This record gives sequence, structure tokens and C-alpha cells, in this order.
Amino acid sequence: NLAVHRMEPCLFKQSYLLADHLGKGAFAEVRVAINRVTGKRYAAKIIDRKRITQLEKRKKMDENFRIETSILSRVRHDSIVQVHGVFEERDYLYLVLDLASDGELFDEIVSREFLKEDDARRVMLQLLLAIRHLNRLGIVHRDIKLENILLEDKSSLRIKLADFGLAKIVGEQMFMKTVCGTPMYVAPEVLTVRKIGRYDNLVDMWSIGVVLYICLCGFPPFSDELSPPPMRDQIIHGMYSFPSPYWDTVSEDARELVHLMLQVDPRNRITVDAALAHPWLRARRQGIRWTI
Ligand code: ADP
Ligand code: MG
Repeated sequence: NLAVHRMEPCLFKQSYLLADHLGKGAFAEVRVAINRVTGKRYAAKIIDRKRITQLEKRKKMDENFRIETSILSRVRHDSIVQVHGVFEERDYLYLVLDLASDGELFDEIVSREFLKEDDARRVMLQLLLAIRHLNRLGIVHRDIKLENILLEDKSSLRIKLADFGLAKIVGEQMFMKTVCGTPMYVAPEVLTVRKIGRYDNLVDMWSIGVVLYICLCGFPPFSDELSPPPMRDQIIHGMYSFPSPYWDTVSEDARELVHLMLQVDPRNRITVDAALAHPWLRARRQGIRWTI
């Protein structure tokens, strides 16, 4: 029962008090929002409609906001940010979300350099369960990366997947033509715009493979900072390696899972269910508190 408050001026500010800045994207600014009645803290994703003067662009932005809102409000999962309110005012659009108060997984990896295998496994398990949930709803996220995986609690590494700004419902009418997502994490079939039909949701699995790789060693598998060819070609040809000494101590099972996720042909790429059944993820699962 998500009420959408349309076009009523300042309704958001009547209900919430804006506090600290949490992050900034292309169009959105994200700030802590405190409910004036309950005192509970949320994250508000705020879009400044005034910034876009061109009517067509503004319409597009409104539409994207509605898509993000409608997709996110269908989803209810422990590891995915939940929507608590939507406000559409003349000048601003607001999306009130669960607050992931420990920031981006990106920063946590930068500060730890990389994750121990047990910690990487925790993150992976939650991420895969979140994606399995999305798959079942026919939703493809399309922008999974370390900046969009947020931490509710950094010591236990409880994650919340965020930013459904590029998400899509997989429909019969579409194979995903739009080249979107962040280059470093983008699947080869997105770059080559291959017809892939029912394999659409596997673009998320590729990105998860990139995330797992970075978790385990602290640097990305594909990058323009490496020797040529350009990153785009590295991705299209699946050119990456497990350089020594960084990967020397990483288990064979973990490397195998990365390898299965980073399959150039989506038909060969591991599915969510198969990934969840992979030996690396089955190890030590007993000790994990959340439900599977
Ligand atoms: P964009 O679509 O512009 O990338 P995001 O939804 O990814 O917007 O938000 C931008 C940044 O704001 C995120 O990378 C993160 O640092 C912060 N952020 C977003 N949502 C939350 C949240 N629910 N809790 C805490 N921080 C958040
Ligand atoms: Mg983002």
C-alpha cells in the first residue's frame, strides 16, 4: 500500500526532515531523511526536476523515476532496499528508501583492500539470493556494481542492493537493446547487442562475476589501465586472468565460480540456482544466519 503523493507542494518536507548527504548520481542526490513523526531514519533519493529545462528530457526523467519506483515497490527482500514512500512534487521527486547506513561495498573493499573468502562468500550469497528473487519476478537489475551494493552493517557485511534506475521487467516484446550499465561491469552480449532472448537475465550474472572477482583481489578483471586491448575488447573476448601474487591464496573453487560467471556466451554462463549450488557457496553455509 504505497501511496504516491502527486504534485502536492512540500508534502515531503512536511513528513521528513532532510539530514546528511549519502551520495550523488547523475541526476539524483541521496540524503538521510528522518520521519518527523516516528524519528526513524531513511534514505531519500531526490531528483531535482528544475535542473532539466528541456521538456522532453524532463519527461524521460519522470518516466525513469516511475519505472524505478514501480519495479522497486514490487520487490520485498532482505537484501534489497525497500521503498517506504514516493513523492512527486513540481520541483522535486523523492523516493524514500531503507537506509543502508554503512555506505557502499566499494568503499569497504577499498579500506580492506580485498575480502577474505568467507566474507566474499557472505556477500555473494546475499547477492545471489537477491538476484534469484528478482529473476522470479522477471526483473533484471542491469547495473550491479560495488557502488550499488550498499551495507546495512559493515562488520557483518549485511548488504542491500540499490539503484534500480536501469532495471527492466523482462517482457516477450523485448530483448534488451539498450546499451546501459557501467562499462567495467557490462556483459559482452550487451556491448555487441546480440539477440539473446531468454538469456537476458544473465547480464546480471556477468556483473556479479565482476563483483566477485573484485571482492577476492581488490582490482577489476577488465580495465583500460591494463595493457591493451581496450576494455571493451577485453570484455567481448573474455580476456582476464588471475595474476600472481594476488590470486595465489584464493581457492580453486572460488576461481572456478568466477570463471563460470564470466562466460562470454550467456548460454554457457552459470545460472543463479547453479551458482547457489556451487561448492564454493555451499561451504560453511551452516554458519550463516539468514534464510536461504
Ligand atoms: P544513481 O542512480 O544516481 O546512481 P543511486 O540510487 O545509486 O543513484 O544512489 C547514489 C548513491 O547514493 C549510492 O551509490 C549510495 O552511495 C547512496 N545511496 C543510495 N541509496 C542509499 C540508501 N538506501 N542508503 C544509503 N545510501 C544510499
Ligand atoms: Mg548508482
